[in-house]
Amino acid sequence: MTKYIFVTGGVTSSLGKGIISASLAKLLQARGYRVTIQKFDPYINIDPGTLNPYEHGECFVTEDGAETDLDLGHYERFLNVPTSQANNITTGRIYQNVINAERQGAYLGKTVQVVPHITDEIKRNMRMLGNSGDFDIVITELGGTVGDIESLPFIEAVRQFKWEEGANNAIVIHLTLIPFLAAAGELKTKPTQHSVKALLEYGIQPDILVCRTEHPISQDIRKKIALFCNVNVNAVIESRDASTIYDVPLLMMKEQLDKTVLSKLKLAQKNEPDMESWKEFLGRLKNPTSEVRIGLIGKYVELPDAYKSIIESFVHAGSKNECKVKVEYIHSEGIYPDNAHEKLGHLDGVLVAPGFGSRGIEGKIDTIKYVRENNVPFFGICLGMQCAVIEYGRNVIGLEGAHTTEIEENCAHPVINMMEEQKQVTEKGGTMRLGSYPCDLKKGTKAYAIYGRTHITERHRHRYEFNSAYLQQYEDAGMVASGINPESKLVEIIELKNHPFFVGGQFHPELKSTVANPHPLFVKFVAAAKEHAKKVSN
Ligand code: GLN
Repeated sequence: MTKYIFVTGGVTSSLGKGIISASLAKLLQARGYRVTIQKFDPYINIDPGTLNPYEHGECFVTEDGAETDLDLGHYERFLNVPTSQANNITTGRIYQNVINAERQGAYLGKTVQVVPHITDEIKRNMRMLGNSGDFDIVITELGGTVGDIESLPFIEAVRQFKWEEGANNAIVIHLTLIPFLAAAGELKTKPTQHSVKALLEYGIQPDILVCRTEHPISQDIRKKIALFCNVNVNAVIESRDASTIYDVPLLMMKEQLDKTVLSKLKLAQKNEPDMESWKEFLGRLKNPTSEVRIGLIGKYVELPDAYKSIIESFVHAGSKNECKVKVEYIHSEGIYPDNAHEKLGHLDGVLVAPGFGSRGIEGKIDTIKYVRENNVPFFGICLGMQCAVIEYGRNVIGLEGAHTTEIEENCAHPVINMMEEQKQVTEKGGTMRLGSYPCDLKKGTKAYAIYGRTHITERHRHRYEFNSAYLQQYEDAGMVASGINPESKLVEIIELKNHPFFVGGQFHPELKSTVANPHPLFVKFVAAAKEHAKKVSN
């Protein structure tokens, strides 16, 4: 029988529910339980695919091609288990399902209402992963903050769910903030008391409180919180600010969050969590023997959350290389041929980021010309790879006016153009080439050396592709298509022969990098940057 843990948030947003959920899941997994995490988001978009990255950060794409919240990236990076569409549900999707059913007459003449129809649909989705039989424990993170109008149906669904499953089968962990008032020199518990009261008003008594704080919480404060919020003292968990999110599982282990959860759920403690390889990862991360500076060239650089998975992939690859990776966010809009050296000359490697639309694209192309000519390691992801193709066409092959038809539909040389199956598409949501596709690597290429095998799969999110009509010209000029989709024959990886590291992928390798499995492209890119740094200092 599956057990359920709900994670709610109070007082303020951005307390790190996703990291707490992922950390708890990691500890339970490390004790031998099969755990998954799902996120329910209260907004009305069917999924975050149509959201501008400035709104909620990166859109994380799963193996099955779902466009999801970036917290799913944390779940995968911590657990090393893929998620799917079932792991991310929005208010929009719930309503869409209910309204579709209503149109089909499924409610047999009843008035369709928030309670019970919307809440029933929420509960059905909450049980979906548990019913698959693949998991002992399902952790459900509720987006938003308790008290928000839009999360009310989810909170009501949790209340019903707890009542239906029974106290030992479904518990609620409430994440709150204990602010420190500098003037008074005190930690304050009142906001926590109030947010628990708000939950109680909706009929939910939280079982465990995880308290975000900048300072240690004394035993006295724990007792006070316990007394006023009706929880055991050992169910008041301190969550101090950490220097890296990867510390949080160990901090939660020290606070015995996993033990408290298991005893509330009446589950066996099994073994102590086996966190050895996690600790080794952290040890390498915190004791680097070298340092590199990597430029991340993009147009959403004001909001690093827009590149969350890329940044975390560098953390994994840095640890693997025992190398501190300092990522510098550089706006592509400000880069031109005459200032490229000034902007990029100090870097040991350059990653040109994914993206959509015309803003900043010429700066990306100028960046690539600079790193290609100056032998700086280059890694292009999706739009970054497409820009590398455009740059090579314009500046090496001599295809004047080479471009992507995304920006210039009638350009002289459409070296990147829309995929055939995309041409009929009119709806925006969920219609790109999404999710996992196979790719065959050519022996003798850099890509093959990096992966060490010929058959790989990677996740995609795009509408445009390398135009194969130009393939021969590119290969004759030294740009190799080292990865090809075996069925559609789409070019998935390009690389240069006479360059220390110049690789572009049409897919998103950052979506598959985890603590247990750092992505080989990132690992080898950081290694190449290390080599570059050594060369420069010599
Ligand atoms: N805009 C490009 C396309 O749709 C690249 C997308 C991306 O970088 N994810 O093909």
